[in-house]
Amino acid sequence: MTDFPIEKIRADFPILQEKIRNKPLVYLDNAATSQKPETVIDSISHLYRHEYANVHRGVHTLSVKSTDRYEGAREKVKNFINAASTKEIIFVKGTTEAINLVAQTFGRTNIQAGDEILITAMEHHSNIVPWQLLSEQTGAVLKVAPINLQGELIYDEFEKLFSDKTRLVSVAHMSNALGTINPVKQIVAAAHARNVPVLLDGAQAIPHMPADVQELDCDFYAFSGHKLYAPSGIGVLYGKQALLEEMPPYQGGGDMIRKVTFEETEYNTLPYKFEAGTPSIADAIGLGAAIDYLSAIGMDKVAAYEAELLSYATEHAKQIPGLRIIGEAAEKGAILSFVLDKIHPHDIGTMLDSLGIAVRAGHHCAMPVMDFFEVPATARASFALYNSKAEIDVLIDGIKSLIEVFG
Ligand code: PMP
Repeated sequence: MTDFPIEKIRADFPILQEKIRNKPLVYLDNAATSQKPETVIDSISHLYRHEYANVHRGVHTLSVKSTDRYEGAREKVKNFINAASTKEIIFVKGTTEAINLVAQTFGRTNIQAGDEILITAMEHHSNIVPWQLLSEQTGAVLKVAPINLQGELIYDEFEKLFSDKTRLVSVAHMSNALGTINPVKQIVAAAHARNVPVLLDGAQAIPHMPADVQELDCDFYAFSGHKLYAPSGIGVLYGKQALLEEMPPYQGGGDMIRKVTFEETEYNTLPYKFEAGTPSIADAIGLGAAIDYLSAIGMDKVAAYEAELLSYATEHAKQIPGLRIIGEAAEKGAILSFVLDKIHPHDIGTMLDSLGIAVRAGHHCAMPVMDFFEVPATARASFALYNSKAEIDVLIDGIKSLIEVFG
């Protein structure tokens, strides 16, 4: 294993000391949501104990402190994804809200009947349904690029789906059901060559690898804090400033306005134009703390460590008779989706839970992916920076023992 301070990192996450059914917790459901380090928990507690008030509203000391910390978190996000300006960082609830925001603002103004939105067959429901809603509202058409049996985008077929009606491409940077990492730079270049903007769903990629929006050159990048060791209830929509400037607001309310009369309302500047109402102040500050934590470790180190975890897990899983891995892309993040002969994924999940191991069993909000692989569901072990090789041994032994019982 690389020189990665795994024991120190594990000690930073209090929940990892918990016992589940009298067994040490082995938390392998990180693609659903990840656990929080002490610094994130402390940042929230500190805010509520010492510095909490509403933001952007008061001249009093606490409001100024809260605002500074909230805007400081925005600056941290900007640096973390290398955006050009904090104006490009919109705080939202999560990836789902970010994608809906783009569909209902960019989409409603730029997409008309007969226009096409291009996605892939491996998308999460939250990168399918907002476009279906938009299509119902506008008469636009959803085009879906196919995947192969390794769970990879068939790139040539994707390219063939561009037409002079394509108005937006929206694809996952990394798939939550399969772990596939898409060739997003190539996708962005292909779309831009046709003057089509690209939204990247970064919900899964952001905790696992460096993401540089200027290098990717994507037009929008969406992610959730809760998968990035930050609180739930906060997420980010990055958008290129020129596009955001032209988009109408998403929701109306306080903070997103500059002047209101009954006749006319003047909207606030970026990024506030898209942040109506009191935001998730503490959660945003928690996200800033998570980013500080990750930056101190280095996302390239996280990526290298997790790649080792994935290859270790894959190698051992492949030796288990009757286990089929779903998703074997050449470019893959730390997700191991699998099915077992004769044992339903829900039984796998329940049995592993009795051993203290948390995995997800289900369709992973990607029902079309399950249909493609002709499985009702999969069991999914998804790894994070605090998982260890020893935990993967526990998982592999657990799978073997349940095959003995059920198989
Ligand atoms: N896209 C992908 C690829 C995801 O994995 C998820 C979360 N499972 C989402 C979007 C939606 O994220 P959230 O529920 O945090 O809005």
